[in-house]
Amino acid sequence: MAIADIGSQVRTVGQRTVNHWIGGKLVASDAGRSGIVWDPATGQAQANVDFASPAEVDQAVEAAKQAFVEWRASALSRRAEVLFKLRELVDANRRKIAEMLTSEHGKTVPDAMGEVARGLENIEFACGIPNLLKGGFSEQASRGIDVYQIRQPLGVVAGITPFNFPAMVPMWMFPLAIACGNTFILKPSEKDPSVSLYLAELMKKAGLPDGVFNVVQGDNAVVDRLLEHPDVRAISFVGSTPVARSIYETGTRNGKRVQALGGAKNHMLVLPDADLAMAADAAVSAAFGSAGERCMSISVVVVVGAIADPLIAAIRERMSRIKVGPGMEEGIEMGPLITKEHRDRVASYVANASSEGATVAVDGRQDPACQRSGFFLGTSLLDHVEPGMRCYRDEIFGPVLSIVRADTYDRALRIINENPYGNGVAIFTRDGGAARQFQFDVDAGMVGVNVPIPVPVSYYSFGGWKASLFGDLHIYGPEGVQFYTRTKVVTSRWPAPETRKDPGTSKVDLGFPQSR
Ligand code: NAD
Repeated sequence: MAIADIGSQVRTVGQRTVNHWIGGKLVASDAGRSGIVWDPATGQAQANVDFASPAEVDQAVEAAKQAFVEWRASALSRRAEVLFKLRELVDANRRKIAEMLTSEHGKTVPDAMGEVARGLENIEFACGIPNLLKGGFSEQASRGIDVYQIRQPLGVVAGITPFNFPAMVPMWMFPLAIACGNTFILKPSEKDPSVSLYLAELMKKAGLPDGVFNVVQGDNAVVDRLLEHPDVRAISFVGSTPVARSIYETGTRNGKRVQALGGAKNHMLVLPDADLAMAADAAVSAAFGSAGERCMSISVVVVVGAIADPLIAAIRERMSRIKVGPGMEEGIEMGPLITKEHRDRVASYVANASSEGATVAVDGRQDPACQRSGFFLGTSLLDHVEPGMRCYRDEIFGPVLSIVRADTYDRALRIINENPYGNGVAIFTRDGGAARQFQFDVDAGMVGVNVPIPVPVSYYSFGGWKASLFGDLHIYGPEGVQFYTRTKVVTSRWPAPETRKDPGTSKVDLGFPQSR
C-alpha cells in the first residue's frame, strides 16, 4: 500500500502490514517477526507491524550514516526551508494525522488534534535553526587572537518513543535533531506505528534527502541493537521508568549521549483558598483526558483542610458527565485504553483499592462503555489514599484519580517530595505567596500554578526530575539544541599584514599560553 493511503485505510484494512522506512522508501521486513496493531475502540486487530532484525537496523544506521556526510554540510537556510515546508504539510494534514493516531491509540479526535498542534510547535521552533545555532565570538581574547564557539551535529542519532503520543513525542525529537545537522532513526511504539511512516513521507515531500530520516519498527530487540551499534551517537528515549533507567545505563556504558525520560506520578495540590470550581475542572480534565494515558496526567490530588469534601463532590459531579466511547465518535470525551492487558491492569488497581484501605468513591468498571468490545474502562475515583498503598506508589497510567487528604501544607509538600517521581506538579490557590513558596520548595521539573498540565511551550524544554528523567538535559527547546550538538571552541590568530606586524606574534615561548 502506498503510504499516502495510510490515513484512509488505517481503519478498514484487516491485514495491513506496517513496514520500515529506510533510505527514503518503505522497506518490508524479512526478519519473520511482527506484532499486532489493535483498534482499541473495537478490540479487533487492524494490522501487523514488522519487527526489524539486527541486520535491518544496521541497514537503517548505514543509510543515516551515509546521508550525514551531505546533510551536515547543508546550509542552515536549506535546513530551515525543509522544516518550513514540513510545517506546512503537517498543518495541512492535521486532521488526517489525528484520525490515524486515534485509530491506533484510541484517544478522541479533538485530543489527537491537540497532540498534533503541540508537535507542530516543535517543528516551528526548529525552523529557527539559523538563529539557534549561533555561537559566541570574543575578539582580541589575547593580542591578535580571537576565540569563538561553534555547534556541530553528533552524527546518527536515534529516538525511541512511547505509545501515548505517537505524533507529538517523535516531533519533540526529529525536527530539531535534523535541523541541527544530524541524521535520525526513529523507533516508534509498536502499538501505534503508522503515524511515523506518514511523517516520513511528509519529510520526503518537504524535500528532505533520503536517509536523513529513517524509521525502524519493532520491540526491545530493535532498541538493543540501536544501543549497541557503534555508529549511533545519541539516544533520546521517552517511555516508562524501568526502561528509561536501563536505556540510560546501557547507552551511556556504550559511550552514547542519552536523555531518557521516564514515567510519572503527578500531584495536584489544592489549598483551602483555591477556586473550587476551577480546581475541580482542572482535576477532572487532567486526570481523565486521553484516559489518563499521559505522562503529565494528574493522578493524585492532595487536598489540604476543609475544602476536601466539597472538592470531591464537585469532582464526582463532573466525572458523572464524562462520555466514554470510541474516539472517532462525535461528542465522546474519553476513549478506550491501548490494549486489553493494560485495561485489565488498570482495573486491578480499582479492584484492590479497598483491601488496601482506600475508598472506591467512583468505580469505572461500572461504566456502560465497559460492555463494548473495545478496551474501555470508565473513570474511577479513589478517596482516602495513603502513600504506602500500591495505587499510590505505582504509575497506573489509566483513568484512576486518587485523593490524598493532608492536614497542612507542610505534610502535603512532604508527600509530594518523597514520591520517587518528579515530572509535573500543580498547585491551586488564590495566594500568590503560597504559590511562589511551593514553586521554590517542590522537587519536580515542571510546575503549574492554577494550570494542571504544565507542558512547557516549545521554546522552553520539557523534563522531569528524579525517576522521571535519566540524563542531564531536558528534551526539545534550547536544551534540545544542546543535546543534539557538541561545541567546538576555536582559538585563532591571523598575523596582521607586514606593515602593521605585531612583533609579539612570532617568537619561541615555552611558557603556558596566557592572555596578554
Ligand atoms: P514503554 O517503556 O513500555 O515503551 C517505550 C518504548 O520503549 C517503546 O518504543 C517500546 O517498544 C520500547 N521498549 C519497551 N520495553 C523495552 C525494553 N525492555 N527495552 C528496550 N525498549 C523497550 O512505555 P509505553 O508503555 O509505550 O509508554 C507509557 C510510558 O511512557 C509511561 O510510563 C509514561 O509515563 C511514559 N511517558 C513519559 C513521558 C515523559 O515525557 N516523561 C512522555 C510520554 C510517556
